[in-house]
Amino acid sequence: MLNRLIAKIIALLPENLVWIFSKRYIAGKNLSDAVKVTQNLNSSSIKATVDVLGEYIKATHEAVEYKLKYLEAIDTIKKHNLDTTVSIKPTMFGLLLDKDFCYQQLHEVISKAKQNELLVCMDMEDSSCTQIELNLFEKLYNEFPETVTLVLQAYLRRTLDDLKWLKSIMLPNYPINVRICKGIYIEPAEVAFQKYKEVNENFLRCVDYMLDNGFFTAIATHDKRLVKAINQMLAKKGTARETYEYQMLYGVRPNLRDKLVKLGHTMRVYVPFGNHWYGYSTRRLKENPRMIPHIIKALVYRG
Ligand SMILES: Cc1cc2nc3c(=O)[nH]c(=O)nc-3n(C[C@H](O)[C@H](O)[C@H](O)COP(=O)(O)OP(=O)(O)OC[C@H]3O[C@@H](n4cnc5c(N)ncnc54)[C@H](O)[C@@H]3O)c2cc1C
Repeated sequence: MLNRLIAKIIALLPENLVWIFSKRYIAGKNLSDAVKVTQNLNSSSIKATVDVLGEYIKATHEAVEYKLKYLEAIDTIKKHNLDTTVSIKPTMFGLLLDKDFCYQQLHEVISKAKQNELLVCMDMEDSSCTQIELNLFEKLYNEFPETVTLVLQAYLRRTLDDLKWLKSIMLPNYPINVRICKGIYIEPAEVAFQKYKEVNENFLRCVDYMLDNGFFTAIATHDKRLVKAINQMLAKKGTARETYEYQMLYGVRPNLRDKLVKLGHTMRVYVPFGNHWYGYSTRRLKENPRMIPHIIKALVYRG
């Protein structure tokens, strides 16, 4: 109920108001902005994953434009020798329009990433995409097992079963790299846990399963309680540092991020950039509605 109300309020906010808030979470509108942010992170021993903003395209020519942006990003990452991977949203390549076309676009990006020894992470979108994306991942993982990685969402009731399925298709010597996060889309109770406690319990179950079953475990959270429980789990299992990492979003909880780096954990930060910042930003806003009074205040002061 509350999420739906917040979503309605956000839809009424003018774009320039949302931009004031967005700057905190987005490297900038250009690739050069993402390069600068990544260089800064790398100089603090933090890895990155660069994301071209965009999603849910309406026509396939948009996918071709995004593909060219990713190919350019890969060249630039290599040129500047950045310690980063790339993250993509399958719906920006047409996942919900034409899955074969989407596969072909992704194939080109992943081939180029492979030539340049970069990983490509397939972000996970709303639950209408989950099964289609898992099928697509299987196909791409069989072709590029060292290059393609995946996101799963702990709020989905099916996620532990999806991990078990991934384990069943895992190739010897090619651990599947899964970023586990809570999940950001508004989903019905039939498919997703709704309560904070239930989501966190499932998050811990999934991390526990991944650590015990040969996955590369990418733990994407800013939740201090989860981080504490996971650090205890890692210590208890004696997990090798090279088999997991923490991940956080650019602009969110930098103090917690720096603390984890000081403790010696690998940290990767998600660095989004580009012109299509609105959808990404409004999701951040829905997640943290306490920002709404701050951005209204900022607009008033600017005026
Ligand atoms: C690297 C990375 C990649 C992701 N990829 C995906 C994906 O592919 N698909 C997907 O559905 N979701 C993705 N997410 C988002 C994720 O699903 C969560 O919505 C988000 O991380 C918030 O959950 P949390 O675990 O931090 O816990 P929460 O309990 O939501 O947050 C814990 C605390 O962190 C702080 N916080 C969290 N988010 C924000 C914010 N935006 N602004 C300010 N403070 C904040 C707040 O203080 C909050 O109390 C990704 C997250 C990360 C870190």
